[in-house]
Amino acid sequence: MANSEQLIAQRPAFQRALHAWYRAHHRKLPWRDEPSLYKTVVSEFMLQQTQIKTALPYFDRWLRELPDFTALAAASEEKVMKLWEGLGYYSRARNLHKLARSVAALPLPPRAVADWRELPGIGPYTAAAITSISFGEPAACVDGNVVRILARLTAEARPFRDSSEAAKYFTPLADALIVGADAGMHNQAMMELGATVCMRQKPMCLVCPVAEFCEGRKRGTPEKYPHLQPKQIEQRTVARIWCEHRGQLLLRRGHAAAKRLAGLHELPEASDLGLKTPDASTLLVTKRRTITRFQIAESIYKLEADAALLKAVKADASLEWIAVNALDTITLSGPHKRWIGELLAARS
Ligand code: SF4
Repeated sequence: MANSEQLIAQRPAFQRALHAWYRAHHRKLPWRDEPSLYKTVVSEFMLQQTQIKTALPYFDRWLRELPDFTALAAASEEKVMKLWEGLGYYSRARNLHKLARSVAALPLPPRAVADWRELPGIGPYTAAAITSISFGEPAACVDGNVVRILARLTAEARPFRDSSEAAKYFTPLADALIVGADAGMHNQAMMELGATVCMRQKPMCLVCPVAEFCEGRKRGTPEKYPHLQPKQIEQRTVARIWCEHRGQLLLRRGHAAAKRLAGLHELPEASDLGLKTPDASTLLVTKRRTITRFQIAESIYKLEADAALLKAVKADASLEWIAVNALDTITLSGPHKRWIGELLAARS
């Protein structure tokens, strides 16, 4: 706490150093060129779980197809999901779509943080980013990057259960450091510093604009901060089915009320077809992925369509035969799109 108070006392000099560095060194990004509320909102949604490099082509395509809140509000859900296909965490696209409908129905977009918090998909970080960048609201953004910078600047020794506990703890300090600044620029400067200089593994203290204020650097151990408890990783296995029949591939469409996969197609699980784990001799490939704290091994088995399977598919509305040459017309979840592409390429 003493280090926080010392940092707050140095606020004017801290802001001058940080902001001068940001003006001179920030990356040129499409949502920073001729910024608008719409560009800021779309970019903040895309960047919630995705790296900038991955989001860039999606952002450009999105802006070409859906240039403003009105166009997005009027778009079909199929179009929205198709434009998001491959970015993952599809609830972001659904929430952005709902948000555009709410904003387009208002005479003017809301300005206050509290009003943005009422809109779908908006947490404290996104509300602060949107309102500070678009309206100059003095709300500090506190994400993993900012937590890392503040924990290092203050050499905070306290252990945190997880990143949201750490974000709560550092919010008062982040709010104190933004006082009197151009809030949008200050927030972007903190995020840029975390992304390009004060990196998780190898902070570049020699070129850091706020090195003189940093207690972690003075102690020689900045990488030690913040003290976050390691995540408990859980292993899971899933058996999936690859079944082709008369030029069609069997897929399962996520239920409309499903949190993660509503409307998206994936290869069905063996259990969707009432099957136990299939014979190892029919294994095509095993793919691994990580979702939150789960490490998942997904094994894909080849199955021939027999009468029992055709009957099971008929009885379950979520199971669909999709023509292989029409797979581009549906929205597949990102990993399944890649796996299906690979398996089709391998068999031709
Ligand atoms: Fe991060 Fe080093 Fe800068 Fe401190 S001096 S804020 S540890 S990059």
